[in-house]
Order: sequence, then structure tokens, then C-alpha cells
Amino acid sequence: MSHPFEETLNSALRHAKQHLSASHPVAATATLSELRAQICLPLNEESLDPTQVIDDLVRSVDGGLHDSAGPRFFGWVIGGSLPAALAADWLTSVWDQNAALYACAPAAAIVEEACGAWLKQLLRLPSSVSFALVTGCQMAHVTCLLAARHTVLARRHWNVERDGLNGAPAIRILTSSEMHGTIVRAVQMLGLGANSIITLPVDDHGRLRADALEAALATSPDQATIVVLQAGDLNLGAFDDFNSLIPIAKRYNAWVHIDGAFGLWANASPKLRHLLSGAEDADSWSTDGHKWLNVPYDCGYAFVADQEAHRASLTHAASYITYDDAARDQVNWNPEWSRRSRGFATYAALRQLGINGVADLIDRTCDHARALVLGIGSLPGAEVLWVPQINQGLVRFLDPEDPARNDVFTDRILAEILAAGYAFFTGTTWKGQRAMRVSVCNWQTSPADVDRVTASVARTLQAARQIPQTDAIETRVD
Ligand SMILES: *Cc1c(COP(=O)(O)O)cnc(C)c1O
Repeated sequence: MSHPFEETLNSALRHAKQHLSASHPVAATATLSELRAQICLPLNEESLDPTQVIDDLVRSVDGGLHDSAGPRFFGWVIGGSLPAALAADWLTSVWDQNAALYACAPAAAIVEEACGAWLKQLLRLPSSVSFALVTGCQMAHVTCLLAARHTVLARRHWNVERDGLNGAPAIRILTSSEMHGTIVRAVQMLGLGANSIITLPVDDHGRLRADALEAALATSPDQATIVVLQAGDLNLGAFDDFNSLIPIAKRYNAWVHIDGAFGLWANASPKLRHLLSGAEDADSWSTDGHKWLNVPYDCGYAFVADQEAHRASLTHAASYITYDDAARDQVNWNPEWSRRSRGFATYAALRQLGINGVADLIDRTCDHARALVLGIGSLPGAEVLWVPQINQGLVRFLDPEDPARNDVFTDRILAEILAAGYAFFTGTTWKGQRAMRVSVCNWQTSPADVDRVTASVARTLQAARQIPQTDAIETRVD
């Protein structure tokens, strides 16, 4: 059998298997100028053989790929891909369904219905909430906050979908100083302006202070307000105290949104779900599939308690009518029109793991994060700043001669760990000091990886402590 795709797809499969089985440096090795020279070719006049294009592509990106889908990548909050999710993602492109409408892609629409139900079950959200499969938590925030904007303005007799924001009642956003940058971007995209965000202080555990929220609400008790809470912040994996904060916000008729990009998955673990106690009383929730669930990129989930608000904020159709026997057209719930059938990969990931497999993934990665932080943090010249309560922790490194240079020394060790090629971590500034973040999200990370990474960091640190500081290596890895 020979058809027009066969040779090219076989070539891609060969490259894929090679990539997944080879051990390569965890951090990309090519420089910016090398990558430009390899990749930015003059566009060819004539067509090329498709297999050659793929072979060339693999060569062109050589040295420019982080092993971010691999087991020793602990930078930012980045997951890998489960085998079933990756394979389903390939088939998504093969099938190339336009998941805008049931009519356009029937199976894709129903797969999303199944995903919505399963996700609500795993994340312990009320079964009545609406959902959308979006590109990531950023667009999940936009989707949820569109519904929030709709509602807080509708309560003030303002129809934002029809009349826009010119002359509308002002909306303020109350959140904590530890919020993620995607909240600011979502607020900008919504036309509310970054200045409408008021950031409030947190306690020693990174949790928004209830007295600060109450005081902020009381300064303008009748204003349209959206409160954004966090389930798992970037540095500490901190969870706001939903049981105390949500009732305060509700007393002032505020909309409560929860950023649970990765932290919402704690609800899938019987051991950790106490962290989310009370979170089910929020109005909307955002999370990701491409981080902790290990679905390939472009996968986030939005959930909204008030289905009608969700739909009204996105649909262009006049009225809200659902029929139980009608399929769900994604265009009424999603910001996009034509879109990838991204439900297939989620469907496959959830079936591969099952309820117990998801819980095990969450618990296991938390154990590894803890072991890495305690192991690295107890090395001579290192210090634990935050022991993970979930899968995020912080350590820093101590200049052997001058404690005033601990920040510089921490950035230097970070750069040297990357250069050593065995593991990947990123830096952060927490409470005014530089730190190395330890973030474990990958299903493949094993206890052996943890041991070897700790030993590798020990070697890097020991060598660095014997060589005096040079300012030449002040490379920041944020
Ligand atoms: C990663 C992250 C986001 C953004 O998610 P994307 O999927 O990258 O859009 C938002 N909030 C938190 C806490 C995150 O960790």
C-alpha cells in the first residue's frame, strides 16, 4: 500500500521514537544565533518533497529543544505527555475535525461532553457547572471572566454583550499579590484595564488575608467586584483559604474565580483534597490539562457555575434555549470558532489513568518534589526555603564567603545546573530573595531520577563552592 501520506508519516514516527528514546541534554544547547541560522532559511521557490521537509525540520531544530516532556525537567510548571494522550493528539491532526459545532465534527463534540463530565467528577466540581476546553489556563481565565463580567454588570442592569464597556459601571478585581500574570492579561483582554486590579497582601503561607479582603470590599461595598483566588500559586503551591474567603466575597455579592492551573488537581487526590475545601462554592474555576494531567500542549479547562452567564457571554445567538436531546455546540462556550478537536487527547489521558491513576500521578509527583527539595536543600551550601505541600518547593544556594551574594550565587548555580545538562530548574524571587523553584509535573519522573538529580546538583554545588565567584556568570534563569 502506498498513499501520499505513508512515507512522510513513517518518517515522523521514526523521528518521534528516536526523540523519545534518546537521552539528550535536558536544556537546549544551541544559541539564539545558531537557531536562527539553522531555521530562518530563504523560503524555497519550488515545492519540496514532504518527507524531506520533515527530515530537514528535525535537523533544523537540533539543539533547540528542551527536554521539557522528559522526567528531569523541573522548570516553571510543565507537564509531559502520557502515551495515550500523545497518540490521540496525533490522531486529532490526522482526523482534522473542526470542533466548532456538533454538525461540523460530531464525535469531537460528544468526546468533549464526556471530558466535561469526567473532569467535573475528578475535580469535584458541581455536576451542574458548564465547561469549555480551551488552549490553556490563560484562555480559561478569559472565558471565566467573560462570564463574571457579564454577571456583575447584569446585576447593575448593564448588558455588556450588547452595549460594551463605554459608560458601563466600573469593575474592580481583588486578588492576592501572588496572582499569576495570566490574570493581568485576561483583565487587559476583557477591556477592564490592569489598573482595575487591586492586589492584597498574603500571610506567611502565601494565602490571601481574610482581613485584607474584607477591608477592600468594605471600602466600596456596592461596586461590581470580581475576586480572584488561587489554588496553587507559582512559588509555593499555596492555596487560599476558600472556606473563609468565599463567604466574605459572597456577602458583598462579588463573583469568585479560582485560578487552579495546576492546584485544582489536588482534588483528584484523597490525600490532598482538604486543600480545596470550600472551593466548590466559587463561581468559576480555571485549570490546565497540559500541566499536571500530562496532555500535550494546548489544553486548558474553564468551568462556570452559572451556565447561563457562561453561554450568554460568548454566544452570538439571541436566546438561551437548550434541549436535552440537542448536542453541545462548542462555539457557544468557547472563545474560538474553528478549533482543534482538543478533547481527544484529554479523553485518552483520563481513560489511560482512570480515577486511581490520576490520584497516583498527583501523589507521586508531590512525593518527588518533596524528596528533591529536602535532598537538595540539605546539601552543604544549600537551604530549603519552602517544603512542598504539593508539587512546588523552593531552595536557595549560599555563597561560601559572602552571604550578601547569595542571590548571585543562586543564579550562578542555576545556570550551571542547566549547563550540566542533567536537570532543568528555573529561578524566582520570593520574599526579596532569589530561589530555585522545584516543580514536578511529569508522569515519568521516578525515584531514581530524584536521586540522580540530587547527586548531580551536589557535584555542581561542590565544584562551584571551590571556585570563587566571578561576576561573569550572573545569568538569571527566571
Ligand atoms: C501556568 C499557570 C497559568 C497559565 O496557564 P497557561 O496554561 O500557561 O495559560 C495560570 N496560573 C497559574 C497558577 C499557572 O501556574
